[in-house]
Amino acid sequence: MHRYVAVVCALGLPVLAVVVGTTFHELVEAAPGFVVFFGPLIVLGELLPIRVMRRDGEEEITVSTTFAFALLLTSGAAAALLSLTAASLLADTIRRKPYWKVAFNAAQFSLSIGAAAGVMHALGVAALPRANITGADLPVLILASVVFFLVNNTVMGTAMALAENLPVRKFLGRDFLFQAGTTGVLLSLAPIVVAASDNTLFLIPLLLMPIAAVHKCASILLAKEHQAAHDPLTGLPNRTLYRERAVEAVEDAKAAGTDVAVMLIDLDRFKEINDTLGHHIGDILLQQIGPRLEAVLRREDTIARLGGDEFAVLLHDVADQASAMDVADRMLEALEQPFTLTDVILDIDASIGIALHPEHGDDIDTLLQRADVAMYLAKETRSGYQVYSPERDPYSPKRLTLLHELRSAMESGQFVIHYQPKSSLASGRPIGVEALIRWEHPEHGLLPPDLFIPIAERSGLSRPLTLYVLDHALAQVRTWHDEGFEIGVAVNLTLRNLHDPTFPLDVARLLQANDVSAQWLQLEITESIVMADPVRVLGVLKALGDMGIDLALDDFGTGYSSLAHLKRLPVRELKIDKSFVMNMTRDESDAVIVQSTIDLARNLRLRTVAEGVEDEETWFRLARLGCDVAQGYYLSKPIPPAELTAWMRAQLPAVEAAHPA
Ligand code: C2E
Ligand code: CA
Ligand code: CA
Repeated sequence: MHRYVAVVCALGLPVLAVVVGTTFHELVEAAPGFVVFFGPLIVLGELLPIRVMRRDGEEEITVSTTFAFALLLTSGAAAALLSLTAASLLADTIRRKPYWKVAFNAAQFSLSIGAAAGVMHALGVAALPRANITGADLPVLILASVVFFLVNNTVMGTAMALAENLPVRKFLGRDFLFQAGTTGVLLSLAPIVVAASDNTLFLIPLLLMPIAAVHKCASILLAKEHQAAHDPLTGLPNRTLYRERAVEAVEDAKAAGTDVAVMLIDLDRFKEINDTLGHHIGDILLQQIGPRLEAVLRREDTIARLGGDEFAVLLHDVADQASAMDVADRMLEALEQPFTLTDVILDIDASIGIALHPEHGDDIDTLLQRADVAMYLAKETRSGYQVYSPERDPYSPKRLTLLHELRSAMESGQFVIHYQPKSSLASGRPIGVEALIRWEHPEHGLLPPDLFIPIAERSGLSRPLTLYVLDHALAQVRTWHDEGFEIGVAVNLTLRNLHDPTFPLDVARLLQANDVSAQWLQLEITESIVMADPVRVLGVLKALGDMGIDLALDDFGTGYSSLAHLKRLPVRELKIDKSFVMNMTRDESDAVIVQSTIDLARNLRLRTVAEGVEDEETWFRLARLGCDVAQGYYLSKPIPPAELTAWMRAQLPAVEAAHPA
């Protein structure tokens, strides 16, 4: 950029000297009176530029061009250049622009006016004799204007493109129509100004009217253009402009062989803020997001608001996945500082999904869709950000093969069930286990349930899968009871199980077949499953409850439970989600959530289970808070049934010693 400015100055300033030197006599001979008249108008034009909002930012248009060009026609190049340079010097000094900008402007005018004057000289016309502008002068006038326009536009546009770090040719091309519609119109008015002033200079003020009208129209048009591409609340680019820039970035990256990152950012629990504090506060919050993120991004990166609480970032030219993750980290950090909204101070969490070109897709729609999948994963796991991974994408081809294999896996017994113990926080006694399924895949090894449960759910396999787990878990409980361990088992259900009116009958059948009474079975339903359609699932839940089966609300705290619904559900237990429990000794707000969930459960006469208890400190803290049951790595990871039997044997003496019967 600075090298470019130096080159323009090195070329332009000698031109200034030469032009003024060779044409000064024209100024003296021709018509000095015009300088007196047009000079002040040029100064006025420079001092009062018209600021317009453009698609990519703000820009200024100065009407001085018309009068400078008129002066070139009537009084020669020296007159035009000296007036324009003096006017822009004055304006730049008043606005305290850096000296190199002042020099650059003077050089730019010298080059464009010098070029136009050169054309006129070459065609044998110096300053036009103002009295006789005729049709025959028109070709020269047009040619001189076109040259002026092209030189001026190229010198200026190149500087702007370099300053914005945009490809120069593309920028000039995109900017051409806008410049032709403004600078072009101003230049075409110059001969008319000259012709009118030939009659009487007092006609000039009348010409100011159409000039003003041109500007009014241009700025209205540009405002419209800006509006169509920006979000009115935050002023950030909207989805349309984001897509446009992303498409361009991907194209450039393909040509250059570089990477582009598409990131979707969603604020967590924004709906709650809107509902509890009001839309006004929600709006203020949304307005503060852009500036926070901009502070950690580069100038050329784009941040857009796609709608609601969803924002998107576009990173041009990222080195690799790690540097995209680094940017995500910095964005989360920037959002971590509390927000001050009028008189409320809020802590905000956000989830970011990242997809990279070319690794995850080579068109913008695929990239956005994959960033969306990653963003939901980040939200579900409360992990801040996630980079897209095909294994975890329900729509990816890799997943589709899994679906294909899922059907046969059940028949060939590739599913195994691990059990994780739950113990009473008061006595330390193991009181039950949770059955957690795994898939022993012949190629991929042991697959965790979140990789295939969602596929099963979407492909009509959730009924056979749940019945498979139930059957095996109940058989295992029978075995444990026969061995003298009086424990129950918990099995996880899916949404489809609850939409299936025959499901309670299946459960009754399996209880009977394994000779286990209903009191030893617990069924876990997640908060999000129930809240998705509380009325529809109520029938099945009631039937299960009436059979004497304990129902537990799983992952509590991650969804949006309404108290009204919670009261009506036949659940007996709340399982506080592990994401809160795991951090409760380090994160005070997680601790508050755990404590208030325990209090809420007590008031609703529900048992509380804390999941994700990973250390002793958490165990004791939960015990003090009055939580009933703990589950987590601190006790044991989910393990095969034989190992669990051994684990319980090992526990018993310690428990008996602490609490003699
Ligand atoms: P979930 O029901 O919330 O199960 C608890 C998950 O937390 C288990 O992951 C368990 O391994 C993990 N976990 C337990 N203690 C700790 C801890 O202290 N720290 C950490 N970091 N994690 C802990 P898993 O086995 O991968 O299961 C994931 C989810 O898959 C389950 O979440 C459940 O929603 C689903 N799932 C598992 N088995 C079944 C099944 O048989 N049927 C259905 N429908 N869903 C299942
Ligand atoms: Ca569970
Ligand atoms: Ca859970």
